[in-house]
Amino acid sequence: MKITAVNAYPVKEWRTFLFIEVETDEGIRGLGEAGLTGHERAMIGALDNLRELLIGEDPFRIEHLWQLMFRGGFFPAQRIVSSVIAGIDMALWDIKGKALGVPVYDLFGGRVRDKVICYPHVRGDDDEQLVADCRRAVDQGWRFVRFDLPADGERIDPGRAVRDGVSRFKAIRAEFGDDLEICMDVHTRLDPSDAVTLCRQVEQYRPYFIEDPLRSENYDSYRMLRSRTGVPIAAGEQYSSKWEFRQVVEEDLIDYARIDLAICAGLTEARKIAGWCETHYIRLAVHNPIGPVSTSACLHLNLATPNFGVQELPRRPGESLSDLIVHQPEWSDGHLLPPTRPGLGIELNHDALARYPYEPKPLGSLRRDDGSFTNW
Ligand SMILES: [Mg+2]
Repeated sequence: MKITAVNAYPVKEWRTFLFIEVETDEGIRGLGEAGLTGHERAMIGALDNLRELLIGEDPFRIEHLWQLMFRGGFFPAQRIVSSVIAGIDMALWDIKGKALGVPVYDLFGGRVRDKVICYPHVRGDDDEQLVADCRRAVDQGWRFVRFDLPADGERIDPGRAVRDGVSRFKAIRAEFGDDLEICMDVHTRLDPSDAVTLCRQVEQYRPYFIEDPLRSENYDSYRMLRSRTGVPIAAGEQYSSKWEFRQVVEEDLIDYARIDLAICAGLTEARKIAGWCETHYIRLAVHNPIGPVSTSACLHLNLATPNFGVQELPRRPGESLSDLIVHQPEWSDGHLLPPTRPGLGIELNHDALARYPYEPKPLGSLRRDDGSFTNW
């Protein structure tokens, strides 16, 4: 089998997406997703270079092609390129599963669990609104909730955000008792002193994890935070390779690895990071805020990975792009169920592409009260 084409399909629905399709001379097509939202045009440009490496190659040689793409430009791939590699890598696993007639999780050694627990996003501008949205989620069958560190529209005052965040935790725990798992995404919005205050004050409400309490560039800051709070920490969605994960894993600086399969160079790279995490008893909480192809890739990884915690799932299957990405997996009672179709189990319906014309959509932004930029 040989690769004959590599296609990019940028689309826009509730957010922008970039799907990647690999075609072969045997008629089997694989599907992937590149996840660096907001940079679709740069990723398409990077794909134009990578395509030249792939045409005519054997799609079964996934590791070889990964090395070629990641290291072939001499300079290690970062973010933009690793996101495109991610989409291609998913498509190659999809092709291999389809060619062999098995789901991708069977290529990873088979299922180690019967279903994959997931968390939704909940929202509310105050404690009451947030609790009401949590109630909606619980009534639907979810066992987890996840909310953002509160901001005031496009403004954020760190002290007020910390106080409001603690108040949100208290309100949710008071309403639902111990049976609901609670996650908070700080989204790298806080400086270390505020992050320490937040983490210490919410310990009493037993968070499942606090996500990205600090920016990701300086690992030593995580060591500092670790020494000052016992709260479980989740991080990693901004990392784009195993090398960027190395220190937080080896020094036990995180409890949950937020690998983004659509940014961090795909299933091939995620499998290696997962194995590394296993030796440190770090569990996976894959970052999956984007589209249904990423969701399916995450599902196959989580079905076959022993050290798993929870999967992010902001939209249930069928709630996003259901006519474009067909055969999305089943969801029941807060869990995704194992697909039985070969490969990733999903297909791109080309006829629906025209319904989602791409247009760039900037990500949000946040300012402090004095107008200065801060992380979104
Ligand atoms: Mg996050």
